[in-house]
Amino acid sequence: MLKGLIFDLKRFAVHDGPGIRLTVFFKGCPLKCLWCHNPEGIQAGVQVVSKENRIGSRVVACRMEEVGLSYTVDQLIKEIEKDVLFFDDSGGGVTFSGGEPMMQPDFLEAVLKRCREMEIHTAVDTSGFTTLETLKRITGLTDLFLFDIKLIDNEDHKFCTGVSNKQILTNLKWLSKQNKQVIIRFPVIPGFTDSQANINRLKQLTDRFENINHIALLPFHNIAAGKYERFGMKNTFDDEPSMNQEQLLPLKADLEAHNLKVTIGG
Ligand code: SF4
Repeated sequence: MLKGLIFDLKRFAVHDGPGIRLTVFFKGCPLKCLWCHNPEGIQAGVQVVSKENRIGSRVVACRMEEVGLSYTVDQLIKEIEKDVLFFDDSGGGVTFSGGEPMMQPDFLEAVLKRCREMEIHTAVDTSGFTTLETLKRITGLTDLFLFDIKLIDNEDHKFCTGVSNKQILTNLKWLSKQNKQVIIRFPVIPGFTDSQANINRLKQLTDRFENINHIALLPFHNIAAGKYERFGMKNTFDDEPSMNQEQLLPLKADLEAHNLKVTIGG
């Protein structure tokens, strides 16, 4: 039976597309971004890690926990159905995120089909790193793509994410040709993605697409620091403070002056 591996369901999400949404986090991602906020989503299989219960700074209990839960299509649809009233009232729907949802294409396609049958709005939040063949399978079933663009220079992209951006840019171009609704998500990472050279190349990229003109700026935050420790991963941004929205206003104004619609935070 077809199953998908999910590591979290976030209800009442308001930053992952229009309205109130259920965000479904798929386990597994082909990238390893230095700043990943969901490091528990990178490894494709179930992981067993310790979970500490604390009172203040004192550990009062410690137990092992499995990260990654297997769902059949019916089981996930049941979870989605619980929130349909909220979707209807708010113009919301379901967002498939991760990790990288297109790493589980059969399961994603099957769930998207069921959502389409139920007339539920769907968004796919993607790194864009997938084959064109997989992208084609889900494009017609998806209402909105939240498409991450991080670094335009390929060598910088490889250094920060572990993969080339060539296929990502090809896929974005293809989505544009299909006239799909796409919001570019741009993580603003101090010292990495926020250089003027990268911003200028981001503007040049959007110039190539008449129908892709909305950029969501995602400010760096370090809320994942505890997760890195739990999963035994190195946190490159240990000492980096989170950014606030005001710090992004100059960049927002710069991009808006380039005739782009710019939102902050999703
Ligand atoms: S693409 Fe997203 S989920 Fe994957 S490593 Fe990068 S930030 Fe994390």
